[in-house]
Amino acid sequence: MAAIPFIDLQAQQERIRPQLDAAIKKVLAHGKYILGPEVTEVEEKLAAFTGAAHCVTVASGTEALLISLMALGIGPGDEVITTPFTFVATAEVIVLTGAKPVFVDVEADTCNIDAQQIEAAITDKTRAIIPVSLYGQPADMDEINAIAEKHTNIHKSSGAPLASRPITVIEDAAQSFGATYKGVKSGHLSAIGCTSFFPSKPLGCYGDGGAIFTSDDALAQACRELRVHGQSKRYVHTRIGVGGRMDTLQCAVLLAKLDCFGWEIEQRLAIGGRYNRLLDEAGIPRVRQRSDRTSVFAQYTVFIEERERLQEELKKAGIPTAVHYPLPLNEQPAYKGNCGGGATPVAADLARRVMSLPMSAYLRENDQRNIVETLAAARQF
Ligand SMILES: *Cc1c(COP(=O)(O)O)cnc(C)c1O
Repeated sequence: MAAIPFIDLQAQQERIRPQLDAAIKKVLAHGKYILGPEVTEVEEKLAAFTGAAHCVTVASGTEALLISLMALGIGPGDEVITTPFTFVATAEVIVLTGAKPVFVDVEADTCNIDAQQIEAAITDKTRAIIPVSLYGQPADMDEINAIAEKHTNIHKSSGAPLASRPITVIEDAAQSFGATYKGVKSGHLSAIGCTSFFPSKPLGCYGDGGAIFTSDDALAQACRELRVHGQSKRYVHTRIGVGGRMDTLQCAVLLAKLDCFGWEIEQRLAIGGRYNRLLDEAGIPRVRQRSDRTSVFAQYTVFIEERERLQEELKKAGIPTAVHYPLPLNEQPAYKGNCGGGATPVAADLARRVMSLPMSAYLRENDQRNIVETLAAARQF
């Protein structure tokens, strides 16, 4: 049997070849490589897709998070609450602004931040909460928004200097673009949503790209300025910004991919659902999904023991696997001394037991059955 790709970008490319060729050719013809018409067009389409008033495309998902924190004026002396069980970028941007990441443990079944534990981590320095919609499934956004709002109101009513310092919830939707929570699209579940168009994400371009979503006009304007060196007019620098634009060619690639994105989301839901059934039948524990939200399964992740051996067995059978993530961020060398928050035993345990299986909108049913059968057999030894 031919090896199964971990994420099948080739099948997608074959499907959208004519749209891709036309979109790229158009950019090469008009030559507006930076902030060209495709940038505006994709921003309008993506904003409409999520329901947010504004979409600001940026150079990557990491840049989306960084620019969001900069737009909020977060910096030294501030704290930002997040999960330690995520890709490093989520916490990296907090440290880069000079603020301190405060890690809160995750739920053992969804692997998302445990909303019940957030309140205990809030101090008078807390400026933002960044829940991550891990593996493609939003966290408990209603509960998290309510905690942020409650503490903002406490700040306000105390009349203390914190009156002007609300706690903002930034959804790290890098893995969840296309998912929904109580019928609302990921990216539009809190004051700010950030996503990534890294090629392997549910909606990916052919390079780096990302976007910020918000319905706050002033925040959107700040983000637009920050991505071009804090420029409010040509060569007028109102803020300290970054070089953080997404280029026109990548936006054109996204436009071509948007044609089939709705279909791909349906495929992801169906394929994820089939993995759920096959794994449950085989008695293999897996990440759970809550009934009031969907996952776009950026990763399909199971819980196993003897991970190294199983990865090796699967590899021999032509089945690639990956680990998201092998170490919680509060145990990473660069973050250990740089962060706050208590012990996160659930994240530490998950880091030892998670393994992601091949997943994409193009994964075939036969391959999926083979993957689960091979994994079930390998676990017997
Ligand atoms: C991929 C990812 C990012 C960073 O996105 P880039 O586009 O690679 O910069 C941030 N957070 C999470 C959870 C991610 O998965």
